[in-house]
Amino acid sequence: MKSKFILLTVLIASQLTFSQQRTCGMQQKMDRIMASPVLKQKYLEQQAKFETEYQRLITEQEAFSKNATTVNNINATILIPVAVHFPDAEPSSCLQNLAQTQINILNADYNATNSDISQWTAASSFFPGVNTGNLNIQFVLATQNHPANSGLSNGELAVTFGTNFLNGDDFDPTWSGYMNLVCRDAGSGILGYSPLGGVPGDGETVVIALSAFGSGSGCSGYVPGAPYNLGRTLTHEIGHFFNLNHTFAGCSNTNCATQGDRICDTPPSNTATGGCPTPGSTVKCGVNTLTMNYMDYTNDACMYMFTAGQATRMLAYYNTIASQFLTNTLSNNEYLAANFAIAPNPNNGSFTIQFKDLTNTTSIEVFDITGRVVYENNFNVASENYQTVNLQNPTSGVYFINVKSGSSIVTKKIIIE
Ligand SMILES: [Zn+2]
Repeated sequence: MKSKFILLTVLIASQLTFSQQRTCGMQQKMDRIMASPVLKQKYLEQQAKFETEYQRLITEQEAFSKNATTVNNINATILIPVAVHFPDAEPSSCLQNLAQTQINILNADYNATNSDISQWTAASSFFPGVNTGNLNIQFVLATQNHPANSGLSNGELAVTFGTNFLNGDDFDPTWSGYMNLVCRDAGSGILGYSPLGGVPGDGETVVIALSAFGSGSGCSGYVPGAPYNLGRTLTHEIGHFFNLNHTFAGCSNTNCATQGDRICDTPPSNTATGGCPTPGSTVKCGVNTLTMNYMDYTNDACMYMFTAGQATRMLAYYNTIASQFLTNTLSNNEYLAANFAIAPNPNNGSFTIQFKDLTNTTSIEVFDITGRVVYENNFNVASENYQTVNLQNPTSGVYFINVKSGSSIVTKKIIIE
């Protein structure tokens, strides 16, 4: 009698635990890919490309860490053109705003500028050697050069409504070159799914359930539902798109580079953790579980970080698919803003500007907070991707840099100490 009671208690407890967890459909999606010889072959080829780039990037980062001030350590911002699709909705400005809200959440989470990352200060004592990671990336709703049959004009946001997209499939070649986010029923109880390693050149999609898209009060039929109402399902799924596995992919007791999630700074775990555990209260594979990581299954309010190792893996994957994104779908200003970087910042009046992929003659103008120009220069970027600026005896404070290229102008702030 007693053993039956214990069994019943265990059953109830395990069901409660299960109901507290999010459910991600990545594994089912991968099962579908691996069941198709054509898709499986494509997946394996893409992963082989990734592995080569991953090793190259790790070697490069180790070299940079020994000489952190080298100019090559400047990375221009990664720009991701995004299209959002609502296949089952009428055109709605509310849903357009909800899409932008969701993109803002992605930008915060992927740049580690989310306010709740401050919790890591206290939590980190349970995870020696683990640092937060970020990608220096901007997800941007595309506005230019939309696909011919999309019905969208230049200047309109790449947000579609109704059946123009996909007809229920997981990819649409019409929208190749975008990060396609599809908000629809993702399957029974599933909050979202993405392939492990997405291919934007195929118009592949990340699918998010109606109740897990964005945050706030939502729109009719698209109301974010607690505890998955802070937009973190998409943070998690895009992690998969950039080739991150779950942190609970298995114990990696002998080789962290080839077992588990294959990332050495994420503590190994073999089962998902749901709910909102206190840091240090969950132990799996003999170590504290990183339950606040976006790639576990905890509540939106209780996940707030990627690790540095995850960021490196995502960057390596991005590098293998970067050329597939159509940056001409973004405005010139957005493109320009992402295509130069300033380092170091703050600085002492001497700094370097690095450009990437600019073709127009470009001018730089540095001015102080009163608008007084303290430096200007014109040059042909094609031959001068690095510009060193030395301000003469600058007073410390906030300065601004205007970068003009063609008809575009972008302003960035620098601090001189
Ligand atoms: Zn997942």
